[in-house]
Amino acid sequence: MSPSLALISVHGDPAAEIGREEAGGQNVYVRAVGEALARRGWRVDMFTRWVNPADDREVWHGPHCRTVRLAAGPVEFIPRDRLFEHLPAFVDQWLAWTAQHRRRYDLIHSNYWLSSWVGMELAAALGIPQVHTYHSIGAVKYGTALEGGAIAALDPVLDSASGQAFPATPALPAVAQRRLAVERRCLERVNCVVATSPQEMRDLRSLVSAAGTVQIVPCGTDIERFGQVDRATARQRLGLDPQGKLVLYVGRFDRRKGLETFLAAIAACQHRSDPTFRAIIGGGSRPGQSDDAEQRRIQALVAVLELGDVVQFTGRIRDGDLPLYYAAADACVVPSYYEPFGLVAVEAMASRTPVIVSDVGGLSYSVLDGETGLRVPPGEAIALAKAMDTLLGEPALRDRLGAAGRDRVEQHFSWAGVAEQLDHLYRSLLVSHPEGTLEPVQA
Ligand code: UDP
Repeated sequence: MSPSLALISVHGDPAAEIGREEAGGQNVYVRAVGEALARRGWRVDMFTRWVNPADDREVWHGPHCRTVRLAAGPVEFIPRDRLFEHLPAFVDQWLAWTAQHRRRYDLIHSNYWLSSWVGMELAAALGIPQVHTYHSIGAVKYGTALEGGAIAALDPVLDSASGQAFPATPALPAVAQRRLAVERRCLERVNCVVATSPQEMRDLRSLVSAAGTVQIVPCGTDIERFGQVDRATARQRLGLDPQGKLVLYVGRFDRRKGLETFLAAIAACQHRSDPTFRAIIGGGSRPGQSDDAEQRRIQALVAVLELGDVVQFTGRIRDGDLPLYYAAADACVVPSYYEPFGLVAVEAMASRTPVIVSDVGGLSYSVLDGETGLRVPPGEAIALAKAMDTLLGEPALRDRLGAAGRDRVEQHFSWAGVAEQLDHLYRSLLVSHPEGTLEPVQA
C-alpha cells in the first residue's frame, strides 16, 4: 500500500498565488515537493491555515495530492509573527479533520518554525516520525538584524545620491525568543532536519544546536517549465526591445532582498547611459501590508536616484509569464542579504539566464562563481554594478554561463531529483518506525 505523508505549512499555502506578502519560496517548495512525491507513489496531504473565506477548503493538485485548509484563528491574513497563538487550534483542527476523514499518516514533514511546533505536537501524539525544513533560521535572521549588518550598511553611492537617511533596521519582533527556543527544540528532537544548502547546515550547527540529525537535500525547480523558450522569442512575446540590455529581479518586497543595493548598482553601472538599458522588478504586494510599505520605499528610491526611465515594476508576475521574463533577461540579479536557498536563482539558471547573486546562504552553493553566474559580496553596489556591466557587455560570456547554469540545475536541482532524495530519507525513517499504518486515500 502507498505510504502516506502529511506536509505541514501553516503560513505558506501551497495552493496560493505566489509572489506577494509571505507567499514565495516556501509555498513553491511545499507544493512542488508534494506533487513530486505523489508522482513517486506517496499519498500526500498538505495542511495550511485557511486565510480567505473565498478560498476552497480543499484543492486537489493531482489524484493523490491535495491542499487542505484548516480554520485556526480568524479566517483572514495574519502576519506570521502573530500566528503562534493560533497553533493549538491548528493542531485541534488537524486532529478533527483526520478523524473525520479517517486519514492516517506514516510521516510528517513540517515547514518553517511555526509548523515545526505543530509537527512536534502531532508526531508525539501519533508516534510517527517527523522531518523538518526551516526555510529561514531565526538565529541568522535576528543576528543580521541585531548587527545592523548589511541591511543597515548604506552604500556610498546610494547615500550620496539620495542625501537622506534610511529608516533604522526594524526592531526584533516580540516572538523572537519563542522562535529561537522552538527552533532549537526542533533540531534536537525531530527525526531529521533537511538543510537546503551546506551553509544552512553550518548555521544550524553553529547557531542553533550541535545535537540532532541534519541531512542536506537542496530545493529544486521545474526544468520542464523553465528553459523552453529562447531570448528573442521571450522578448517578442513580452513586447520588449529585441536588442535592449535587460536585467531582472524577481521576488517579494522584503528588506532582506537587498533591492536598494540593486538600485544603487543600476545608478552606478556604465550601462546606465545606454538608452536601451532596462531593469525589470517583478513581484507584487498587498495593500496595507509590510511588502506594500517596502515596495513604496523602493519606488521612492527610484525617484530619488532618478531611475524612473530605466526601472520598470511589473507587479506580481503570472505563472505563465515567469519563464518568459527569465528567458528575456541578459542577467537575473538576486541581491539578497540573507537567502536560505533562493529559488529565483535556480529558476533563472534553468532558463539559461546567468545570475548575479549575493555571496550568501544557498546562493553560494547553487551558483558557481564564474561558471554559472557571478557572486558578489552582499550590500556592495559597486561590485554588483561591475558584474552587471560584465555580463551586459559580453554576450558570449553571458551565453556560456547561461548554458552551464542550465546543466547545473538539470544535474542537481530538479524537483524530481529532490523528491527522490526525500523519498529515500522518508523510507529510511519508516524502517525505524515500522508501526506506521497505511490506509487508502479517500479522494
Ligand atoms: N515568484 C512568482 N511571481 C512573482 C515573484 C516571485 O512566482 O511575481 C516566485 C518565484 O518564482 C520563486 C518564489 O516566488 O519561486 C520566491 O522564492 P525565493 O526562494 O527566491 O524567495 P522567498 O520568497 O522564499 O524569500
